[in-house]
Amino acid sequence: MRHVDVIVIGGGPAGLMAAIQAVKVGASVILIEKNLNLGEKLLISGRGRCNFTNSEPDVQKFLSRYSSSSSNYKFLNSAFSKFNQKDAEAFFNSVNVPTVHERGGRIFPDESVKPDVKGGQIILNALLNLCKKYGVRILRRSPVIGFDIDNNNKIKRVITRDDEIECGSVIIATGGRSYPKTGSTGDGYSLASKLGHNIIKIYPALVPVKIKESWVKLASGCDLKNVNLSVYKAGEKIAVRFGEMEFAPFGISGPIVMDLSSHIPDWIEPEDSDDVLQFSLDLKPALTHEVLRNRIASDFNKFGSKTFAQVLRKLMPSKIISIVLELSDVPHDKPAAYISSEEIHDLANLIKDIRMTLDNSNHDCGLLSFNHAVITRGGIDLKEVDPGTMQSKLCENLYFAGEILDLNGPSGGFNLQLCWSTGYVAGMSAGLNYKNNK
Ligand SMILES: Cc1cc2nc3c(=O)[nH]c(=O)nc-3n(C[C@H](O)[C@H](O)[C@H](O)COP(=O)(O)OP(=O)(O)OC[C@H]3O[C@@H](n4cnc5c(N)ncnc54)[C@H](O)[C@@H]3O)c2cc1C
Repeated sequence: MRHVDVIVIGGGPAGLMAAIQAVKVGASVILIEKNLNLGEKLLISGRGRCNFTNSEPDVQKFLSRYSSSSSNYKFLNSAFSKFNQKDAEAFFNSVNVPTVHERGGRIFPDESVKPDVKGGQIILNALLNLCKKYGVRILRRSPVIGFDIDNNNKIKRVITRDDEIECGSVIIATGGRSYPKTGSTGDGYSLASKLGHNIIKIYPALVPVKIKESWVKLASGCDLKNVNLSVYKAGEKIAVRFGEMEFAPFGISGPIVMDLSSHIPDWIEPEDSDDVLQFSLDLKPALTHEVLRNRIASDFNKFGSKTFAQVLRKLMPSKIISIVLELSDVPHDKPAAYISSEEIHDLANLIKDIRMTLDNSNHDCGLLSFNHAVITRGGIDLKEVDPGTMQSKLCENLYFAGEILDLNGPSGGFNLQLCWSTGYVAGMSAGLNYKNNK
């Protein structure tokens, strides 16, 4: 039977980084991947361009962007002290991946160097070249289906569909459940729970949100910029985001919606009634109610011979007008000159507060499924993982890296950075631990 010092399960960004670090400290490493190709999700990240980290310079501010259900972002302090966003950029620069910095601190590989190769492929090639250079052996099309453990809950052998391999340490880097067609089908959760690990309930995150009101269909495809989206629970405002969003046939999507979606399971339980959470869309957050009212009054005055619907076209994108017309009591064809000050007041109210109700009728927190989610929220309970090494507290030769952990970040490169930092630490610790105990 084959024997290897470290087995890494999962050939995504976290597993590749872990394998490279483990082999670099002198361990023999086999990386086991169930797909034929490695890094399938990495290749579609950032629409293929791969926003692999963020340039926020302050590590504490960087860390404050992560959430966790089982602990808090401080879990990542130690990993970031060993390998943070600056190290990640330097790491890729050192292997001939020049980088570009964009809006919101997003960092991408510079595609202009090789115009026919997308950013995700550039990062994947760099990682695969390092695996080759340092001698990581890769087993493809080999789903891991279980472990052979001894009486002390220590892993002796990793069992794949076609093979059994003896090992010193194991790193589980199988990702979450989102975009399952890329290979992330949640296998790591069941592998870890069989070893006694608690799995914090998982939800789709960075995902579009379903809305109960059927009128959202009217604006489907409408992109909105510079709007405010607030969340209300029992009449109290609990969150607000400013930026871009869009309407879809089922509800709402776009950056500010996706960002809010990751927090919805904190605000409601799946069993809650489906009208518990409301969204309020302010189409003109830069204008006070009074300024907006005066502007509407002046437009209606100026274009008095036009109809209500025609004057609205001067105030907002055409697709959103269908919503305003649907929700307003003013008849579409009423001449602007006859619109009362009370109707103008109500219109200003509507433009600054379009109410929508989360559709939790399927008890799924109103979130679209994992097929549409950028990441998974929940996962391996951080209380059972040593933050300095990523080592399991329940199984001494087991480590975790990447999205499988109960950690999630917003968009902007934070989720891949999580993979680089935890992958680096898990690989290094598993490699050194096994070597020292040999
Ligand atoms: C559309 C999209 C765009 C994204 N864009 C960005 C972005 O621009 N920036 C950013 O920071 N993040 C982005 N993300 C998130 C980021 O891609 C993930 O957080 C990251 O890929 C997680 O890496 P991972 O290594 O933990 O897991 P994964 O990338 O999911 O890799 C896990 C690997 O494990 C393998 N595996 C699973 N089970 C087994 C098994 N039983 N045996 C063997 N192998 C197994 C899988 O096949 C897979 O190859 C995006 C995600 C999506 C879906």
